[in-house]
Amino acid sequence: MKDYKLDTLCVQAGYTPKTGESRIPPIVQSTTYFYGDTKAMADCFDLKSADYFYSRLANPTVAAFEGKVTALEGGVAAIGCASGMSATTLAVLTVAGAGDNIVCSHEVYGGTYNLLGVTLPKLGIECRFFEPDDTAEEIEQLIDDKTKAVFVETVANPAISVIDFDKVAGVCQKHNVLLFVDNTLATPALCRPVEYGANVIIHSSSKYLDGHAAALGGIIVDCGNFDFKGNPRYASFNEPDESYHGLVYADLPSAVFATKCRAQLIRDMGAIMAPQNAFLSYIGCDTLALRMERHSSNAAKVAEYLSKHPKIEWVRHPSLPDNKYHALAEKYLPNGQGGMMSFGIKGDATLCAKFMESLKLITQETHVADVRSCVLHPASTTHRQLSKDELEKAGVPENLIRLSVGIENPDDIIADVAQALEKV
Ligand code: PLP
Repeated sequence: MKDYKLDTLCVQAGYTPKTGESRIPPIVQSTTYFYGDTKAMADCFDLKSADYFYSRLANPTVAAFEGKVTALEGGVAAIGCASGMSATTLAVLTVAGAGDNIVCSHEVYGGTYNLLGVTLPKLGIECRFFEPDDTAEEIEQLIDDKTKAVFVETVANPAISVIDFDKVAGVCQKHNVLLFVDNTLATPALCRPVEYGANVIIHSSSKYLDGHAAALGGIIVDCGNFDFKGNPRYASFNEPDESYHGLVYADLPSAVFATKCRAQLIRDMGAIMAPQNAFLSYIGCDTLALRMERHSSNAAKVAEYLSKHPKIEWVRHPSLPDNKYHALAEKYLPNGQGGMMSFGIKGDATLCAKFMESLKLITQETHVADVRSCVLHPASTTHRQLSKDELEKAGVPENLIRLSVGIENPDDIIADVAQALEKV
């Protein structure tokens, strides 16, 4: 399977039926599994057997989705989680505890920013933020012997900046620190961070992987390319885990990160993906490569249209030649930059509201990255408590409209935007 191209893996990876079995993964809606002998079950608890024994630890439908995303991202193992946020939380807690720190790009999803900047500090895990445009030297200064990971997004939500992998991965390799990459908005169809030095990849699968706004979920992919053995930064991988029969994770032949994450964090905190959501996400991924092509070409057309419109002040999408991240996008996302974009209407919040309400096809939603085009006006929704000045400082000016471009016919999307702009 490994040698197939990505669009083939989208359709075929993760589940291979035996004769007479269902062609697509069945939804194994069971918390528990039958055992006739004690030894077979004891082997599960000792990690000697990979058989299923309780759905908080693993489930066959979830495993099919995990297998598919592992293949797509070029990793060695994956863990399906209840949401993108639980995936990020569990990935961080696999490596960090009180007294440790995470170095994170300032331009990440708001929920991640809150988790790392507000919630995890309450547990004693510090977060040190850097700007994506900072130099390697500036990022390096934040790293010390308690740094357990550097965290970035390939394409940041909602800033729509593109990370400079060579710069960030170079810093991680120099200091032997894990690089965590949230690849939600790019997806492996447009960028495979493992090829640029990522060690752990995280997704909110609620977005493009599912693609249909049908299933909440998250996934952590272990790229299997980090040597934990003897690395003093990762003592918890090199010491016996008393809660797991003295297992030393760094001694495992493969999937060291994923095994620790599942054996400790999934076991203790739950938050595994539900079988029904895994099924929907699995079949959603069948069309990922096709959808991302269309999302990207549609967004590029809409961005070009808006960039020439007299009522538009600015447009942010990496496909535009004058976009600050165009060169990085050409390097890391050469086959398309995804469907997320933002633009500013010449006018104030009232005018933006008028524009939004005039749209007929494109709907107002907080969600992004599914097949249907949708918009959000942060100044009157997610950021409505902020003053005009505070909005500017947060990089969300009053006139900013976030547009998640779907896979409808591009002419219809542009026509809808055009008729709404005529009304303002
Ligand atoms: N990461 C990114 C880039 C996101 O956009 C989101 C949600 O929008 C998340 C993580 C969190 O995912 P979820 O909503 O599935 O918890």
